[in-house]
Amino acid sequence: MSDDKSIDVVVVGSSIIDLISYTQRQPKPGETIKGSKFCKGFGGKGANQCVMARYMGAECVMVSKLGKDDFGNEYMKNFKDIGMITDYVKQTAEASTATAAITVSEDGQNCIVIVTGACDLISEADLQAAESVIQKSKVMICQLEINVNISLFAMKMAKKHGVKTIFNSAPAECDIDPEFYTVCDIFCANETEAEILTGLNVVSLDDGKKAVTALLDKGCSTVILTFGEHGSLYATAKDRNIVHVPSFPVVPVDTTGAGDAFLGSLAYYVACRPDISILEAIKRSNRVAAITVQYPGTQLSYKKRNELPKELF
Ligand code: ATP
Repeated sequence: MSDDKSIDVVVVGSSIIDLISYTQRQPKPGETIKGSKFCKGFGGKGANQCVMARYMGAECVMVSKLGKDDFGNEYMKNFKDIGMITDYVKQTAEASTATAAITVSEDGQNCIVIVTGACDLISEADLQAAESVIQKSKVMICQLEINVNISLFAMKMAKKHGVKTIFNSAPAECDIDPEFYTVCDIFCANETEAEILTGLNVVSLDDGKKAVTALLDKGCSTVILTFGEHGSLYATAKDRNIVHVPSFPVVPVDTTGAGDAFLGSLAYYVACRPDISILEAIKRSNRVAAITVQYPGTQLSYKKRNELPKELF
């Protein structure tokens, strides 16, 4: 294990350009309709989490892949502008930068087509190239928006170097390799993922508690279940006492990216504030996430350290 832990948070994950069209209704197959507004945003679960951790004040490294194209150049500039270490964000000519074409209609429905492009090409070789910086990191976050074997490989590498690992099981489509449950220090799911992974119905907080127990039974040492406006549930395998950490009450405008804001700030607290308890870290991360739901957009809704309440630091 390296004594030099000069990097706070390393994120291995996706960087996706969101292309959002606002329409009155969703088009039918074969139909062309006029939209009322368009906007482009920086997204991808990995990048969102890394950006939030950076905004909180963490020294952050992103390990990701972009295309050698205009979107890739724009994303790279965005990372650099906010002070992230980008040495391990590679640009490839073999695939386009990942995109998510999103149609949001007035009834609040979303239709999304994701082309994961360059994100799919993040490889073991890319992680081996980043190993020296991974071993200097305090915390790693991984998700499932890139090749899942690469996420697992990354967390095993982190573990080897004494780096704390936070695994976010998003987006879960089916049950995952059982090793994911045991390799991470903190397993973080939302209620939809908890349903898919445990086979339980997760509607009420009581259902959530059952899902947390089921995730502990699968071998997790610490589970956090984020539960939208209800806040979060937390438990460890040690005492299996499930604690409800209520959300910070706000009037939501757009909850997209709230989970990523929670994860990014949690990583900041684990890496940079070892003096506060994990429960206090969850409480503060709930508040950071609640602030983001009051503004539209994903990364656009994230506030920087100097815009956040002082008592969060
Ligand atoms: P997304 O996929 O949109 O990023 P998610 O489903 O993974 O989000 P949620 O569980 O909805 O994540 O939200 C994460 C955290 O954000 C919650 O634990 C809570 O603290 C906060 N949050 C979300 N929605 C609200 C809300 N309406 N009011 C207050 N806090 C909220």
